[in-house]
Amino acid sequence: MENCIFCKIVRGEIPSTKIYEDDNVLVFKDLHPVSPVHVLIIPKVHFDNLHMMSTSCEGLEALNAIFQALPEIVRLVGLEEKGFRLINNCGVSAGQSVMHTHFHLIGGRSLGTKIV
Ligand code: AMP
Repeated sequence: MENCIFCKIVRGEIPSTKIYEDDNVLVFKDLHPVSPVHVLIIPKVHFDNLHMMSTSCEGLEALNAIFQALPEIVRLVGLEEKGFRLINNCGVSAGQSVMHTHFHLIGGRSLGTKIV
């Protein structure tokens, strides 16, 4: 997508701190971290949101690639033993501000028991 920030990151048109990359998945540090570890996991192919991904064959394949990569990503950010929270905001009312599906992988501190 021409004007999507995360597509621009995938294309290398705007900088990011990359943590992991393969043919289908890119992981980079969030600009405004909420915890010592806060990275964004995205499919390289543009999908507006998780609902759109999970309702198409191409999207489900991309989700599969993300979850296959997840153990390696978790290892790279050092959260294998400590644990982590994986968050997706789907749609504006859920707080999604960048309309390219992304999962927030956060951890490195006690996150408490409440989701919101
Ligand atoms: P969400 O509110 O779930 O859509 O999350 C969007 C996230 O993208 C926020 O946590 C932002 O800090 C992060 N973000 C926005 N632009 C960039 C960027 N250029 N590089 C890294 N993270 C970004």
